Amino acid sequence: MNYKKALSDGFFKVISESAKELGVDSYVIGGFVRDHILNRGTHKDVDIVAVGSGIDLANHVAKNLPGNPKVQIFKTYGTAMLMHGDVELEFVGARKESYSKDSRNPVVENGTLEDDQNRRDFTINALALDLNESRFGKLLDPFNGVEDLENKVIRTPLDPNITYTDDPLRMLRAIRFATQLGFTIEERSIKAITKNNDRIKIISKERIVTELNKILLSDVPSVGFLLLEKTGLLKYVLPELIALKGIDEIEGQRHKDNFYHTLEVVDNICKHTDDLWLRWAALLHDIGKAPTKKFHKKIGWTFHGHEFQGSKMVYKLFKRLKMPLNDKMKFVQKLVLMSSRPIVLAEDKVTDSAVRRLVFDAGDYVDDLMTLCEADITTKNPKKFNKYHNNFKIVRQKIIEVEERDHVRNFQPPVSGEEIMKTFGLEPSREIGLIKDSIKEAILEGIIPNEYEAAYELMLKEGEKLGLKKK
Ligand code: ATP
Ligand code: MG
Repeated sequence: MNYKKALSDGFFKVISESAKELGVDSYVIGGFVRDHILNRGTHKDVDIVAVGSGIDLANHVAKNLPGNPKVQIFKTYGTAMLMHGDVELEFVGARKESYSKDSRNPVVENGTLEDDQNRRDFTINALALDLNESRFGKLLDPFNGVEDLENKVIRTPLDPNITYTDDPLRMLRAIRFATQLGFTIEERSIKAITKNNDRIKIISKERIVTELNKILLSDVPSVGFLLLEKTGLLKYVLPELIALKGIDEIEGQRHKDNFYHTLEVVDNICKHTDDLWLRWAALLHDIGKAPTKKFHKKIGWTFHGHEFQGSKMVYKLFKRLKMPLNDKMKFVQKLVLMSSRPIVLAEDKVTDSAVRRLVFDAGDYVDDLMTLCEADITTKNPKKFNKYHNNFKIVRQKIIEVEERDHVRNFQPPVSGEEIMKTFGLEPSREIGLIKDSIKEAILEGIIPNEYEAAYELMLKEGEKLGLKKK
């Protein structure tokens, strides 16, 4: 079969002609070819292999392209990159690789296209299209990658034990591709990954997180986390989740398996948000349950304070994985910390003041918090399921009403500390805090509206109670 159509974009011709001028063969390889055959839309990073110098080819292509884009050269890797519009063109010379035991950085020699295809991670990523004028668009598929695409399997070109020990990052990539594409991983690979899972230790945290993020951004992330668990990788990358596995039973009382529950919550939330950090919050919302689990004779299993414990664990986890310790982390922490609030609220009759407090505490995160809590409903009892969802609908409606009326989302005290000081002729003191607090509480309870006049009145009353006199 010929794939000329995949190469209809003008720049492929330019690469083909540039390679001819230099007297080298060139090929498109990897993700671009795979995603074209899968009809996954156009892949924005295009990998070009030159049988010769990738850097020379990149420089020559840049000269021949309109606008002469700048070439970025990575000497140590022998690769070069240039941007053509929004397409990223990566050039590399065909190479042969050999690995040592404790590094994923191989010794590299020049090689043939076949050598280069051999070093690729999966058969479906080793597909190449010939750019040579006389064979333009010809598919080179030495490992039956197309068949694997049809059968939806992830398979390695070489013995999987070699492929995965050479570069253990491939273990995560296999699981990530299986999750993104909805493929299965061939049994030999599963065995090899399981056998070599501890090799993941030599992979940098940043690369691990890149793959975890891609799994989380897939349509059904549980596929990936179940594979991570099955192959024994999860205990190295996210031991906090492994700790949630299992059901304990004492005196006939059982709790739910919080690992599988968590995965259900993650899959649920993915139907309603593409936000990576909200998805992380779903993944981590129950991690505090492992260290806080207790059995009480009278009431059974409890997880008291797991939200607080969990939010502290979020920080440690982000730090360990070298993830950003910024407002994204704070967002995840806050959602974990507040993750039970709407549920508690929805179990009862939903009151205005409870909703006002929720909005006050969650601030701008309140909508995301509601999305998390709706995803958290995994009960198989249809009566309970409907009851919770209906109550959450009421909560959402009330959030809008309360917010329109009381504006407590980013609460600013209607009477400032300065005004309290001026009114009673006070220096900075404890009383000011007490008065401000009483006003805030009265607003949240709905005793007074969130308005200046009413707050001023209350300030006078509260001041009087404290024995203060208006100046
Ligand atoms: P995506 O861009 O969606 O992540 P991709 O297949 O294009 O998918 P890249 O990371 O862009 O993946 O890598 C491009 C190609 O380089 C891959 O298709 C594969 O052939 C090869 N490759 C990347 N990483 C590895 C690796 N660790 N081991 C072997 N080959 C790899
Ligand atoms: Mg790519």
